Amino acid sequence: MRTWSALQRRNNRKISLVPTMGYLHEGHLSLIREARKRTDCIVVSIYVNPTQFAAGEDLGHYPRDFSRDERRCEHEGVEAVFYPSDDDMYQPDHTTYVLSGEMGRKLCGRSRPIHFRGVITIVAKLFNIIQPHIAVFGQKDAQQSIILKKMVQDLNFDIEMIIAPIVREEDGLAMSSRNKYLSETERRQAAALYQSLQMAEDEYKNGNNDLNDICRKIQQLIEQKSSGKIDYVECVNTADLGTADPQTSDVLLALAVFFGNTRLIDNTVLKQR
Ligand code: AMP
Repeated sequence: MRTWSALQRRNNRKISLVPTMGYLHEGHLSLIREARKRTDCIVVSIYVNPTQFAAGEDLGHYPRDFSRDERRCEHEGVEAVFYPSDDDMYQPDHTTYVLSGEMGRKLCGRSRPIHFRGVITIVAKLFNIIQPHIAVFGQKDAQQSIILKKMVQDLNFDIEMIIAPIVREEDGLAMSSRNKYLSETERRQAAALYQSLQMAEDEYKNGNNDLNDICRKIQQLIEQKSSGKIDYVECVNTADLGTADPQTSDVLLALAVFFGNTRLIDNTVLKQR
């Protein structure tokens, strides 16, 4: 991988990296297309990173289909697919991690305490191996994108971070490899997440500035329309994921909801900076 990247750099080609865990869907492909607008040299990494899964999470049955992913990448004209094994990525005596600090303990970090340590460690490793000029991530994982941008700044990676919009199914459910886990009923009910975000956007546009009230209404709507169990519904600012205040900060509304064992996340920006 390094040799290939060095060759591209010697030929003055700008490398874009799209990191994924595979089982590629239109959301992932949209990141590739964002990258394509900026460069003619795209690397897609496909790696289900064990260190971001806690014991009892879905590492063992995370959906995988490398030949289909490879075909999709080929169809998008991707220049290289980086598909390392666990042995490639982690030596048996691996001990060093990148920590995300307070931001990694908020929102998803509360129910997944080691998750962001794993995510930013693997992304730092991918950056060091692939040496991209640009990296493209999805707004779908808003907390991840914010934490990774901070890591790039704090650790002086010379990489431009692009965050691409959320791609949704027809009924509004954010595309995710994990949607595959949902039963037919859960899948139907999961549309309530986007409906609740749309309701929140309307409330805010119509002058409701009470973010706690908006979060409460979201909770009610999801509980009315689905069997989903709410993990969190929160409004935070994107600078440090602390409390949002429409007067002084931007407002990211983020939620996580369990359908059975499947944890779905979604978000919308109620107020831009
Ligand atoms: P994953 O394979 O789920 O780890 O996701 C890899 C990248 O794709 C991350 O940057 C995600 O934020 C992004 N992504 C996943 N789902 C979507 C979606 N529905 N729309 C846009 N980006 C997405």
